[in-house]
Amino acid sequence: MVRVRFAPSPTGFLHVGSLRTALYNFLFARHHGGVCILRIEDTDRTRLVEGAIEEQISSLAWAGVEFDEGPHVGGNHGPYIQSERFDLYAKHAELLIQNGTAYYAFDTAEELDAMRTRQQQAGIAPKYDRSSMRNQYTLGENETKRLLAEGAPRVVRLHVPLHEEVRFHDEIRGDMVVHGREIDDQILVKSDGFPTYHLANVVDDHLMEITHVIRGEEWLPSTPKHVLLYRAFGWDMPAFAHLPLMLDAQRKKLSKRFGSVMAQDFRDQGYFPAALTNYVALCGWNPGTEQEVFSMAELQQAFTLERVSKSGAIFDYNKLQWMNSQYLVAADPVELATEIKPLLDERGYAYTDLEFVASVVTLLKHRIHFLKDLVEFADYLFSDTLTEVEQGAWQSIAADDALRTALSNINSSLTEECLQTPDAFKAMIAQAAEAAGLKSGKVMKPLRLVITHREVGAELFDTIKLLGIDRTKRRLTEFVA
Ligand code: GLU
Repeated sequence: MVRVRFAPSPTGFLHVGSLRTALYNFLFARHHGGVCILRIEDTDRTRLVEGAIEEQISSLAWAGVEFDEGPHVGGNHGPYIQSERFDLYAKHAELLIQNGTAYYAFDTAEELDAMRTRQQQAGIAPKYDRSSMRNQYTLGENETKRLLAEGAPRVVRLHVPLHEEVRFHDEIRGDMVVHGREIDDQILVKSDGFPTYHLANVVDDHLMEITHVIRGEEWLPSTPKHVLLYRAFGWDMPAFAHLPLMLDAQRKKLSKRFGSVMAQDFRDQGYFPAALTNYVALCGWNPGTEQEVFSMAELQQAFTLERVSKSGAIFDYNKLQWMNSQYLVAADPVELATEIKPLLDERGYAYTDLEFVASVVTLLKHRIHFLKDLVEFADYLFSDTLTEVEQGAWQSIAADDALRTALSNINSSLTEECLQTPDAFKAMIAQAAEAAGLKSGKVMKPLRLVITHREVGAELFDTIKLLGIDRTKRRLTEFVA
């Protein structure tokens, strides 16, 4: 049975790259009828950000990523939390000390700094120098025992074999090999007694019977250490899959300097969760077909690791916006109307009858990217008190006698009959214009401006139909009076 996990650290709010990692884990689990677990990796107590766990959980739930194990939190399965499992990690570190694959080191921060300076000066890569520092090998058994007994500050480090190659297979990148001499003797337990990410991560992946570790490419350099840990414990390894980085248009790591990167920002901007997850799914994975719009169920069906790309995935904000429009156009107008109604009521708009709002959605959905844009974009349909208008254009119509006459003619000729068909409407406009000595082409823009206070919008015929004769006439009368 496939078992995967999403294992964020609560060092910040949910980044869209992390959302993708969570999503791919979720899709992979669902595709295989397996289990997806949420695990909070909060072993680094110095980097905790207040409220991060809650925010991440709520953003994941908003995005539709579900978890299958753990306590219930807000309708979803809540996380396993590493800080509640510290004893476990200490016990496991002990096992490694006993079997000789980890060791105690007593170096002070100053001693480590001096070591790094020496290495820098000698032009060698910084790495713990086991043979010259203060650890159980150089100090000997008795001194080590004495220091332990007196409670001297110490860490536990992984004993990395210097003369061996570490090999593993990555489901996306293929066979990987790193030489032991390039791997640092990673700290497993810090001087405060807390485990590092590496120890806690491997112990938990084993105890939670994780079959596939699917995570971001930035963790690839950690994997050889994890492979050594599995070996040290004598455990079978999970499969590994490292996802490509998410990049901005300049092919730099996606960062907030260039735009929104937090799931929460997209939520605030009015993205549909399904549009965001749909786009994020395609950012690093392709279905092998032309299809771009996928429901969550279709994603679950289609998603495989084989189709995840090795190279960085460009996060294209325009494409994301396009995706949102697709969802806007396809959604049920009544549902959208229900969703947006509170915002309209908040504005104190007079015309927020659900059916009417749904008709406005239908009329204008092709012209906006976000549902909430409708609040501003269609204010002339929701309210009769319109203030904003392009003054220059307004004044020039007001100063044009022929135009005023044409608009006045339209006001008196507008009947239910001419709203029966677009042709009848056009004929009425042509007649009203002609009687004022104008071509109908001349009056359409001014008519729109007077009725909607806007220079662009849906077809006037449809707009007036929706607005209704009374409201239209009132606006015309007010203008020509
Ligand atoms: N806690 C790590 C993170 O913040 C997890 C990496 C992994 O999945 O192993 O992303």
